[in-house]
Parts: sequence; C-alpha cells; structure tokens
Amino acid sequence: MNMASSLKIEKADRLKELPPYLFVEIDRAKRQAREAGRNIIDLGIGDPDTPTLPHIIEAMKKAIADPANHRYAFDAGLPAFRNAVSEWFKRRFSVELDPKTEIYPLIGSKEGLAHLPLGIINPKDKVALTDPAYPAYQASIIFAGGRIIHIPLKESQDFLPDLKKIEELKDIKAMYVNYPNNPTAATATKEFYVELVRLAKEKGIILISDMAYSEIYFDGQKPISILEIEGAKDVAIEFHSLSKTYNMTGWRIGWACGNPDLIAILSTVKTNFDSGVFQAIQVAGIAALNTPDEEINDLRLMYEERRDCLINGLRSIGWKIPAPKAAFYIWGRIPKGFSDSIQTSKIFLEKADIVATPGVGFGKSGEGYIRMSITVSKDRLTEAVSRLSKIL
Ligand SMILES: *Cc1c(COP(=O)(O)O)cnc(C)c1O
Repeated sequence: MNMASSLKIEKADRLKELPPYLFVEIDRAKRQAREAGRNIIDLGIGDPDTPTLPHIIEAMKKAIADPANHRYAFDAGLPAFRNAVSEWFKRRFSVELDPKTEIYPLIGSKEGLAHLPLGIINPKDKVALTDPAYPAYQASIIFAGGRIIHIPLKESQDFLPDLKKIEELKDIKAMYVNYPNNPTAATATKEFYVELVRLAKEKGIILISDMAYSEIYFDGQKPISILEIEGAKDVAIEFHSLSKTYNMTGWRIGWACGNPDLIAILSTVKTNFDSGVFQAIQVAGIAALNTPDEEINDLRLMYEERRDCLINGLRSIGWKIPAPKAAFYIWGRIPKGFSDSIQTSKIFLEKADIVATPGVGFGKSGEGYIRMSITVSKDRLTEAVSRLSKIL
C-alpha cells in the first residue's frame, strides 16, 4: 500500500463530543417515503410555508441593483438597519437600545447564538441549558469547551426552569432561556424574568435569551422581552430574528441586543469569522421591520386558525393537547399506547405518512412528547387528523 495516499481523515475531538443525531432514522425513513412517491404531510420542520411579504422583496430588488451594496458590509452593519431595530424595539417593548453599542446585526440569529460561547466560555466553564432545547445551543457550548448543566423543563411548571434549583448551583457562567420556546411553545411571565434577572445579578450569571418567536403569538398575548426587566441590560443579551416573523428563514438576518460588553465580545468573535450581513439584505430587513402591524396580525391569525384546527381535530379523536400561546409548534404528550417518542414518530410516518419530531431529539426531558409544526395549510392539518384517527 502506498502510505502517502493513505491519510486517514479523522474528525477533531470537539466534533466527536457532539451527541448522537437522533433524527437519523426518521430522516432516512422520510427520504425513502418521498422517493417512493408517498404523499407525506411534513409537520417536522419549523419553517414558514408562506412567502416573504411582497414589500420586502421589492425593497430587496432595488437594493440588489445598487452597487453601493455589493461590497463588504461593515461588520456592525448599516447604521440605518441598527436604527430600524432600535425603533422597532422601542415600539414593541418600550425599551431603549443604543444603536451604536447595544445592537448588532447577525447572519440569522442562529449564527450569533452559535458564536457567542466562543467569546464568553472558557474550557470547563459551566453553562445552564434548559432541556428540551433548540439543538444549536448545545453544539456551540461543546465547541467552546463548556460543560452543560441540564435544567429540565416540566409541564407541571409550565416549562419554565425551576429557579430554586439554579440558586443552589455554583459557578454557572451563563444560562440560556428561549421564550416563546421551541419545542414546548411555552411563554415566560414577567415574574419569572424578574426573578431570573435578580438571580443572575446576585450570582454573576450571563443570561442569553433567544426570542426568535417574539411575534408569533396568539389570543393577543404579546410575549415580553427580558430586556423589559429593570437592570436586565447588566446581565443579558437577547437574540432576535427576522426569519419567523417575516417569512425570511432563507434570507439569513437577525440581530443581538442588550448588554454592550456582550455585544462587543460577540462582534470580536464575528469579525474573525464573517464579514457582515449582505447590505441589500439589511436594506430589505429595514423594510421588514417597518411592516404595518396589521400584516403581521394576518400571519398570526393564520397560525392561530391552524393551531385551533389541529388542536380541536386531535381532541375530537381523543388526543388532548393544551393549546400553545405562541410559536408555531404543538408539543403533545405521545398518545396512549405508544411507548416512546421515536417509536411514535416512526409509526406516524409508516402508518399515516406524517412526519412529526420526536421530543427526545431536543433533550432527555423531551422524551414522552412529540412536536408538530403548524407550517402547513389547514387542509393538510385536517387531512393529518383524519389519517391519525385511523391509527390512534
Ligand atoms: C428558528 C430558530 C432560530 C434561528 O433563526 P434564524 O434567525 O433563522 O437563524 C433560533 N432559535 C430558535 C429557538 C429557533 O427555533
């Protein structure tokens, strides 16, 4: 054998530390079902199915033709984008943010969430992570060498972490909160945030709030930002996204805001990885942030109708799931007679051609639950209920 050509490519230890990808089998089964031409109803992905609003596309068309937007963007983004965020934030949450030091544009909020730990976590630092959680947090803590302390989210506590437990923990460097929550669709109360901020200040914990679903809420109950809490800016950074609110998941734009030191740290990490958000997308982002609220309301009503359609439909066939107040997920206990979340997903796919996400894929405490996304039409949701009625 020629030794020179037999280099064995081995991945780095940090990649080996990633937890096993639990959706492998489901993904494979889904692909096979599609290839076999089966009529799959995909409730697996949280990605809006309706197009980006037309005025945003128009703004993009103009911006893309302007050569001024073709060059490297400033890392900190267009002042006009940061100003638009600042104004939006004030309108929405009555919170003042300094566009120069307290707002930073991101290539989608996932990008910022994933880069922040590299700037604040040293090897072996402890990071509190709610379980279940959006999987990107976990990977980025592992890449930074941090140790994850799992904090279970329980239905009996409205999927809010037990702050007494956190009070007992020592040397927690940072903690993640995500409300409205993916996957549980839970929302946070003001009292919870007040207590959390108090605790974080007392114990010196950095709070990382992910508010990707801030505008997807129902029954007129607006979710609050952690930055509304007095003193939160001393300890918290919050991540926002244009993806879910304006049907812009593919465009890649969001922002971080809050504590100026954390923003400066994040900007240092980012300048070494990327060169900012394509300026034309920032211009389109400004148009998005200035969307009249009635248009977003129409979107909310569409999701609310779908939520009611699915929840009521499932109730009528004996599967009772509480109606979520926000986000576009239904997080239900697996139906009677099913043994675990992976088995439930497999049976849904095999017997009903429905893709739903097993709860355990979001963390151990997600076991026993299944997540269904309402990013498909009401007709398809009605069809899904009818198919499920045959197997439940
Ligand atoms: C969709 C999602 C994001 C990522 O949004 P982008 O801005 O598109 O990167 C972040 N957090 C949660 C919880 C999400 O569900």
